[in-house]
Amino acid sequence: MKNNLVKVGVIGVGHLGQHHAKHYKNLPECDMIGIFDVDDTQSTRISKKYNIPSYSALESLLDRVDAVSIVTPTRHHSSVAKLCIERGKHVFIEKPITQTLEQADKLLKIAKQKNVLIQVGHIERLNPALTALKPFSISPKFIELQRLAPYTSRGTDVPVVLDKMIHDIDILLSLVHSPVEAIQAKGLSILTNSVDVAHARIRFENGTVASIMSSRIAKNDVRKIKLFQLELYATIDLFAQTTEVYRVLEDEKQGSPSALIEPFDYDDKSLYISYEKPTLEKKDLLKVELKNFISSIKGTETSIVSGVEGRDALQVALKIQNKIVQDLN
Ligand code: NAD
Repeated sequence: MKNNLVKVGVIGVGHLGQHHAKHYKNLPECDMIGIFDVDDTQSTRISKKYNIPSYSALESLLDRVDAVSIVTPTRHHSSVAKLCIERGKHVFIEKPITQTLEQADKLLKIAKQKNVLIQVGHIERLNPALTALKPFSISPKFIELQRLAPYTSRGTDVPVVLDKMIHDIDILLSLVHSPVEAIQAKGLSILTNSVDVAHARIRFENGTVASIMSSRIAKNDVRKIKLFQLELYATIDLFAQTTEVYRVLEDEKQGSPSALIEPFDYDDKSLYISYEKPTLEKKDLLKVELKNFISSIKGTETSIVSGVEGRDALQVALKIQNKIVQDLN
């Protein structure tokens, strides 16, 4: 790594990949070497737009970089990532890590042998509405996660569970630190040949229950979480980026200075209800995510979402998808 700059490339510069290219170009911690896309017209367009070299052969780009973002449609993640990792390149793979668990396990194995990093693009982990929960002691007993999105043909190479729901599965696994015990799921196709709407009930070994619903056929974007636990209720809007937390306190001094605190009596006890709506700073989350990838390669930060975590989210997603398919047949 010359001048401590990580040399990077982007593979697949469609809807999302072009933003990876733009951010790397502007990040001082890395040296943007170039892009590769199987669609020459798209590659040339993005090359001109951001003044970044376009490579007509993936191997030529790989000869010149330390790391790549893989932002191809999901069905190509496994083969492209395998090639890059075998060449000793660190990889940032957009979500979901791969289509099958075998593919993910294979990538993790080769990455270990080659001593390279795999990071996965579960960007919602950085959403300020979610990170706002950090000051609170979160141990959910019941969680409802809902994600609706207007239809677009992008992402339909995989069912909605692997395209949309996997974001919420990753969030869920980051909040509930317990193995999955049982899954019930139901889904249906509305517009495509695969599952467009899905609902799952996940029970964890520690007793936590999650209800998770995703649809890619909706009028508007909705990304909401409701989280319940003993003496705490939180409502999170990932799309609007707002978080509200209600807590039961025994002493009003336990509330944070910005909280609205109201007394209330219950069962002969004098208690307080605290309401907090933290002010959240809007950030370009993709920029933060890619900066973290570069810092993780340099060893100055830890990956926000590791390859193993991406694999674990995929495992739960595939269990849900399999239940849905069994039910449909
Ligand atoms: P897209 O179809 O707009 O772009 C994909 C690009 O990859 C196209 O330009 C295509 O020509 C190119 N491509 C296809 N096969 C290739 C190959 N083998 N090598 C190089 N280039 C190839 O898709 P998109 O919406 O940008 O999605 C790409 C990936 O990003 C998907 O895996 C998707 O799940 C993920 N994604 C993640 C988020 C998120 O919130 N993290 C959001 C959108 C998309």
